[in-house]
Amino acid sequence: MANEVEHFHVTYNDIHNLIRKCTPKIGAEFNPDLLVAIGGGGFFPARVMRTFLRGSTENKTLQIQAIGLSLYEPVEGATEEQIGQEVIRTQWLGADAGKMLVGKRVLIVDEVDDTRKTLHYALSELKKDVEAELLTRPESERDTLRAATKFGIFVVHNKKKPKLAELPKDTPYYAGEDVDDVWLDYPWESTNIEEHDKLAALDHSKKTVS
Ligand code: 5GP
Repeated sequence: MANEVEHFHVTYNDIHNLIRKCTPKIGAEFNPDLLVAIGGGGFFPARVMRTFLRGSTENKTLQIQAIGLSLYEPVEGATEEQIGQEVIRTQWLGADAGKMLVGKRVLIVDEVDDTRKTLHYALSELKKDVEAELLTRPESERDTLRAATKFGIFVVHNKKKPKLAELPKDTPYYAGEDVDDVWLDYPWESTNIEEHDKLAALDHSKKTVS
C-alpha cells in the first residue's frame, strides 16, 4: 500500500539500554524525587529508570505514581481536525495530587513524544494541581513552594517531526533517542515476544531509526 506507515520494532533491551545511558545525566542534573509515569507506555520505562536512579543516588526512595492519558479516539464521521485534537484522562493522581507534588522535583515519564500533545497536557494539568494546593497554603509560603516545585520530562523516544504543542523552555527535557517519524512497535504491545524480537532484529539490520 502506497501510504503504509513504516514500522520499527523496539526491544526491551533497546529501551533498557537507552535508559541506562540517559539516567546518569538526569540524576546529576535534575535528580528527581518523584516519577510520574504516563500509562501504559511510561510504566516500564519509569520502573527501569528507578533502578538506575537508585544506583546513582544514595538511599533515595523514589516513588512512581501513574496517570493515564489517551488521545481522543475519533468516532465515526469525525473530521480530520477532530482526530487527535484532545487528550483524555483515563487515570489521575488521587485527591491529594497537589500535596504529593508540591515542593518536589517531578519527572514525567513516557515512552514516546510524537505530537507532544500528551506531554503538554500532562505537564499543564500537574501544574494546575500544584497551584490548587498552593491556594491552601499561607500566602507567604507560596512563592517559595512554587519555586521549589520542578517538573522535568523523560521519553525513551522523541520523534523528529513538527510538534503540535510546545513545552515551556524552563522544563528540562530528556530523550533516550531522537528517531525518524516512523511507527514504533513496543515489546509490551506484542503477544508474541519471540516474533517481535525477530522483527526487531530485521529492522535494526536495516537501520531505519537513526
Ligand atoms: P503524542 O501526544 O505525543 O502525539 O502521543 C503520545 C502517545 O501516542 C504515546 O504515549 C503513545 O501512546 C502514542 N504513540 C505515538 N506515537 C507512537 C508510536 O510510534 N508507537 C506507539 N506504540 N505509540 C505511539
